[in-house]
Amino acid sequence: MIRQDGASVSAYYTRLKVIWDEIGSVFSMPKCSCDGCTCGISKAISDLRDKEKLYEFLLGLDSDYSTIRTQILAMKPVLSLGESYRLVSEDKQQRAVSGGKKVTMDNATAFHTHVRREGAAGNQNKSGPSTTKGGKGEKEGHCDFLQ
Ligand SMILES: [Zn+2]
Repeated sequence: MIRQDGASVSAYYTRLKVIWDEIGSVFSMPKCSCDGCTCGISKAISDLRDKEKLYEFLLGLDSDYSTIRTQILAMKPVLSLGESYRLVSEDKQQRAVSGGKKVTMDNATAFHTHVRREGAAGNQNKSGPSTTKGGKGEKEGHCDFLQ
């Protein structure tokens, strides 16, 4: 099963669509043999396949999206795949604007990476006694960054 695994919603959706297209080209949709079809089986099969795609998309989403996924699955009538994709994308954007927990954590990680790199560069540039105070130099870099 395809999962989002931290990728963006659009990248994950694109990956799924490529696979669905491939499956569609290998296994063609069964066709009705009615003359001027009135039984509607083709539409029923197509609708069922769309629902399968919707569930595949929703179930493979990262746990960040569990709230919006539950909301979409509870909607009646069932949303189309395109509508669901739009809602999930908007959900991500809204959380990015409001500064959710995940965004804050990402910033913190970036911050620490930045500080560590600054500290290492500072130590390389210094010569003589300061080289032995590698730990202290790193600490100073941290404080400078905070100011
Ligand atoms: Zn038919």
